[in-house]
Amino acid sequence: MTGSTGIFIDGQWLPARSGEERTIVCPADGTVVGVVAEAGAADTDAAIAAARRAFDEGTWPRTPGAQRGALLERVARLLERDKAAFARAESLDTGKRLVESELDIDDIVGVFDHFARLAGEDHGRPVETDNAAVEARIVHEPVGVCALITPWNYPLLQTAWKVAPALAAGNTFVLKPSELSPHTAILLIELLVEAGLPAGVANLVTGAGPTAGGPLSEDPRVDLLSFTGGLETGKRLMANAAATVKKVALELGGKNPNIVFADADRETALDNALTAVFLHSGQVCSAGTRLIIEESIRDEFVDELVARASAIRLGGPFDEKAETGPLISLQHLEKVAAYVEAGIAEGAVLRCGGARLTDGEYADGFYFPPTVLDRCTASMSVVREESFGPVLTVETFRTEEEALALANDTIFGLAGGVWTADLERAHRIAAGLRAGTVWINDFHPYVPQAEWGGFKQSGVGRELGLAGLDEYREAKHVWHNTAPQPTGWFGA
Ligand code: NAD
Repeated sequence: MTGSTGIFIDGQWLPARSGEERTIVCPADGTVVGVVAEAGAADTDAAIAAARRAFDEGTWPRTPGAQRGALLERVARLLERDKAAFARAESLDTGKRLVESELDIDDIVGVFDHFARLAGEDHGRPVETDNAAVEARIVHEPVGVCALITPWNYPLLQTAWKVAPALAAGNTFVLKPSELSPHTAILLIELLVEAGLPAGVANLVTGAGPTAGGPLSEDPRVDLLSFTGGLETGKRLMANAAATVKKVALELGGKNPNIVFADADRETALDNALTAVFLHSGQVCSAGTRLIIEESIRDEFVDELVARASAIRLGGPFDEKAETGPLISLQHLEKVAAYVEAGIAEGAVLRCGGARLTDGEYADGFYFPPTVLDRCTASMSVVREESFGPVLTVETFRTEEEALALANDTIFGLAGGVWTADLERAHRIAAGLRAGTVWINDFHPYVPQAEWGGFKQSGVGRELGLAGLDEYREAKHVWHNTAPQPTGWFGA
């Protein structure tokens, strides 16, 4: 990463105008993994100016879609070449197990290939009118300058979900990654340059949310704001964006139900209930944090779940025996712990986990063990709000209607799962769940061909699929009257 500071504007790596820098530490053990420039409002202002110029005067928005697609395909191949370096950087920033980072990079390659394909397709269409002299059609154009703000849990994956469609559609952008995990964004910019992206199209500002990112939501030169992150930040940015009526795409939190009926295959449902919530230590927007289980099997199912959750081994990114890793920061760990304490105070029964691990190898990291809270009710804050940690709450139901009502009793609507052998019931639940993704007898898989996004307060708009490209383009109706006539409407 020679010379790559973290701030990339108009094809140049730059220090922050203030001279400030930020030290990035690995949450697994507190070791320093890098130092990056700390952008402030003046850096972001310059990045927006570069993106605006590249959009208004540059070649990229006017480059044929197939050529844009070819560049994205080159990026996919370069990512495959550099997979080891990307995975290592992702793991050092996030503490995530190396094997999980490697899987993320495979997914990211798929995302670039998906949008490379779409970039080469013409989604315009002729429009039928009742006037034979009119040739009308719908064409697509890029939105303009895009502000892309991303979180730390899947840093490069969430970035790819925005960068790939933004470029496919012919936009220019300013990317603001999480201040906690900037390194793979820096590596990606290097690859975009290597793939031949013109200067000014991709700009990067690394730094804190309000200072480096805030101006992106307010600046009139930005046409679209695409944000993935927490609900409260999303609300603030949406309000900021309203002043200049920016297009807004938001991927926010989730409080996702995992419904288990008594007739489900017990072993598979149990095993998947663990991965649904404890994968990446619960730092997953679609985590199945609310187990909603048929009362008749609750005791036996939860006893076994607790036994298995207690045996999950935590460790750092390069610990081959580790099954999951640390939380991203001390501040985040304290938030998770506070939710668990609030749940207990409100009447939940702590069955396992519940307190930070501090002994031995865990002393310098931010480790919080898999935690199960039994006998929860829908009014508890730990059931209603996203802790974004390894915390499973258990609620019970007796009827299908009750299960669905509990599942939908949330302001969120990102994802949900249902486990049952009765497929008619499974599809009734799938139809009734107010969520952007529903898994039947599964939990977590996604593919770039399918739209991803939230109902209710889980977000606005969709990423991936075809709709994920539509976020980044305007539909324009071109009406061509080949035999114009006076209308005779006035003064005839
Ligand atoms: P966050 O909201 O704290 O931060 C997200 C990004 O916004 C970061 O880059 C941060 O620096 C920036 N930011 C913060 N304040 C800002 C401000 N005032 N102006 C501009 N930018 C600002 O979220 P996080 O803690 O990084 O990520 C976790 C959240 O992300 C969870 O709520 C999770 O559910 C959500 N998430 C959602 C999805 C999805 O697909 N729906 C995917 C991943 C994560």
